Formats: sequence, structure tokens, C-alpha cells
Amino acid sequence: MAILKVARLGHPVLRKRAAPVPLGEIRSAETQRLIDDMVETMREYNGAGLAGNQVHVLKQICVIEVHGNPRYPDAPGIPLTVLINPVVTPLTDETEDGWEGCLSVPDMRGVVPRFSSVRLEARDRDGGKIDVVAKEFFARVIQHETDHLNGIVYLDRMRDFSTLTHLAEWSKYWLGVQEQDD
Ligand SMILES: [Zn+2]
Repeated sequence: MAILKVARLGHPVLRKRAAPVPLGEIRSAETQRLIDDMVETMREYNGAGLAGNQVHVLKQICVIEVHGNPRYPDAPGIPLTVLINPVVTPLTDETEDGWEGCLSVPDMRGVVPRFSSVRLEARDRDGGKIDVVAKEFFARVIQHETDHLNGIVYLDRMRDFSTLTHLAEWSKYWLGVQEQDD
């Protein structure tokens, strides 16, 4: 396995749309190695998730995992989840505000509204079908990662930039000020 280089904001790859992975290629050695490398990279940098674009690969693959993450100490846990060709459909107009960060926008945080309940359809790393309802924090992470696959970053989803903050200032001025759900 290998730790991959993570694209930072400004790299054009973050603004491109990733292509679906043909079903016949999901179990290929190449795709499986990419998934393993993405998991290792996400863990190395303490990300809650990582999308193909972020490692310069325009394939609709993202990995998600949250447990004991020092970047998100208060976050509920999410077991390792691999999503291929994810499609997210909001199930409500209701949104929740929550803090988000991104490995491609280092050392920044901002409050982002996200749909509180979504339907997630995708394939897992074996090609099996996933069709679940995701809520709250899991729904937030899914929306963040699938946005990446469409060339969208969390900054695009902020209502305004009044909460955009560097991490050190976030700890100093914002921690505990506003209810957080990430
Ligand atoms: Zn991100």
C-alpha cells in the first residue's frame, strides 16, 4: 500500500467530475489497490473521508471512516465505508449546520448546511449494492465526499464565509461557542 499525494484547493482536479467505475472493473486488482491506498492515505492524514479527485484520480470512489479521529474528537463513529458510484438524494428540505474541514483545504474549518437525511445508493468494494438512508453526521460526510466527485468543495456550500476560520483560531474562539455536529 502507499500513501498518496493529496490535491489542495487550486488544483484543477478538484473542480472536475469523476467518471463512474464500470461494474466489471470494481474487483480488478487496480481498483482494489487504489481503494487500499485511499484508505491508508485517509488514515495517515486523519481525514473523515477521501474522494478520488483528492488523490488525482477522476474515478467515482470515496472512502469514509471515523473513530477516535483527533481532527473530529466529538464526532460519532462511522465504520470503514467504501462507496463506488455513489448517488445521493435528499429525503427532506431540512438542513443542519455543522463544522466541516477538508484535507484539500488544510487547517481550515467552516459551518456548512447539509441535508439532514439522504438516500445513498452506491456499490461497495466487492460490487455489492448499497441502498441506505443516512442521517445527521453520516449524511453530512456522504454529501461532502460525493460533492468532491462532482467537483464541488465545502466552501461552495457555505452560506457565507463569516465562520471560515483557521484551525488554531477555531480552537481558540469557536470551540464550544456553537453547537457542533462534526
Ligand atoms: Zn473534502
